Amino acid sequence: MIPVSCGEIAEVVGGELVGAEPTAVVDGAVVVDSRKAGPGGLFVALPGERVDGHDFVAAATAAGATVSLTTRPVDGSPCIVVGDAQRALGDLARYVVAKLPDLTVIALTGSSGKTSTKDLIAQVIRPYGETVSPEGSFNNEIGHPLTALQATGSTKYLIAEMGVRSLGDITYLAGITPPAIGLVLNVGTSHIGKLGSQDNIALAKGELIEAVRAGGTAILNADDDRVAGMRGRTREKVLTFGEAAEAEVRATELKIDGEGRPTFTLHVGAGSAADDQPAFSTSVSLRFIGEHYVSNALAAAAVGVALGLTPEQIAAGLNAATPLSAARMELTERPDGVTIINDAFNANPESTRAALKSLAAIGRSRGARTWAVLGEMLELGDTSTAEHDAIGRLAVRLDVNRLVTVGAGAKPIHLGASLEGSWGNESAYVETIPDALALLRSELRAGDVVLVKSSKAAKLRSLADALLEDV
Ligand code: ATP
Repeated sequence: MIPVSCGEIAEVVGGELVGAEPTAVVDGAVVVDSRKAGPGGLFVALPGERVDGHDFVAAATAAGATVSLTTRPVDGSPCIVVGDAQRALGDLARYVVAKLPDLTVIALTGSSGKTSTKDLIAQVIRPYGETVSPEGSFNNEIGHPLTALQATGSTKYLIAEMGVRSLGDITYLAGITPPAIGLVLNVGTSHIGKLGSQDNIALAKGELIEAVRAGGTAILNADDDRVAGMRGRTREKVLTFGEAAEAEVRATELKIDGEGRPTFTLHVGAGSAADDQPAFSTSVSLRFIGEHYVSNALAAAAVGVALGLTPEQIAAGLNAATPLSAARMELTERPDGVTIINDAFNANPESTRAALKSLAAIGRSRGARTWAVLGEMLELGDTSTAEHDAIGRLAVRLDVNRLVTVGAGAKPIHLGASLEGSWGNESAYVETIPDALALLRSELRAGDVVLVKSSKAAKLRSLADALLEDV
C-alpha cells in the first residue's frame, strides 16, 4: 500500500488507536490472512465462519505488521479498533484510490467469464503500463478492496472484477474504485436463487454502467439483450462488442480447431477508439478452449480500444494470452490417449451449455467419442429442476456420446437426457464421485474426450484431478 500513517487510517475509518502510534506508517501489504502478513503491513481481523481473525493478530504483529484493524483491542498488538472491520477495509481502499488520480480503473462484471476475461484484459494491457489485477476470483467486498490497495503511484491500470449477490453490491464496490471503464459481459442465471429473476440480475449488474466516471466508457455485449439494454443507464460513451452486425468490436469467420481453440477475424469499426481511428480487421487465434472465449476476447479487445491501444497491440495481446486460472476448460491429453477437459471450477446453466458445445465441437473435429460428466449447478432456486433437465436434453441434441450425472441434485440432467433421447446406457446416474470414477475407469478408452463440470460445491474438480492422476 502507498504509505499512510496509523493516525490517518484511524481518521479515515473512524477507528480508535489502541497501543498504536499515530505516526507509525503502513507501507507494506494489507492482508486478511496472517500467514501473508509482513513488515510494515496491515492485518485486517475479520470474523471468519470457523475462525476469528482476532486469534491471529499477535501472529501478524510478530510477522512485522505495523498495525491491525480489529473490532476489539488485542493485548500486546497495535490496533485500530472499529465497529466493522470489513467496512473499514473498504473505506481505506476508497481513500487510497482517491489519492491516485492517474490510476485508470477497469471494472467488469457478468454472470460467466469474469475471471477469464480479467486475465485476458491483464495480458492485453500489461505491456503498456503497470497493471494490478485481482488474484484468482477476488471479486467481493473483501477481495476487491484488497486488490485496490495494491495500487501505488506507479500503477497505471487497476482491473477490478465485481461479483453480484444482491442489488447494491456493485454500487458499493464501484464506489471504492470509480471506474473509467465499466464492462458488462453477460446476464445469466447464476445467483438467481437470491436475486429472483434475470431482470433483477441485469438491474444489479447495470449498476456498474451507472458508476462509470465522467469521460469514461461503458462496454456492453451486443449479443446479450439485457446487457445491450443497459445503454440508457449512462451518459458516457458506449462501446459494444459481439458477433452481432451492429457491434463496434466484432468477430466474424469464427472457427474452432480440434483442440477447441477459436480463431476469428476481429473488426473494430471506424471511430470506435478515437474520432480519427480508421476501421481495422485482423485475425486472432486464441489459446483458450471453447467458443465462449471469443466473447471474452472481444470484451478484452474493446477495453484495449477504449484505452487507445493500436489494433496490432490488441491482436498481439489476444494471440499471446494464456489461461491463468485453473479448472476452466483446461484440456489435458493423458498418456493413454484419453483427453480430460477440466471445467469443474464452477458451473451455471450458461457456462455448462458453452462447455457442452465446445465438447461436441472437439468431438466432431477429432471424430472422437465424447463424455460429459456433470454434477449439480447450485443456487438456481425454483428453476433448478428445469435448468438441469434442459442441460440433459442439450447433451442429447449435441450428440454427446456418453453422459454421467453425479449426485442427487443433478439427477434431472439424467432424466432429461433419458426422455429427450430415449437413451439407455448412454446416460448413467451415479450418486457419488467414487461411483463415477469407478464407471469411468472401467469404460474410458484411447481417443475419448471427457468434460468434467459442476458447481464448486459439488466438488467434481476432485474427480477431474483423480482422472488426471490415473495414468
Ligand atoms: P465465478 O463467478 O464462478 O468465479 P466467473 O464469472 O469469474 O465465475 P470464470 O471463472 O472465468 O467466470 O469461468 C467460469 C466458468 O464459465 C468456466 O466454466 C468457463 O469456461 C465459463 N465461461 C467463461 N466465459 C464464458 C462466457 N462468456 N459464457 C459462458 N460461459 C463462460
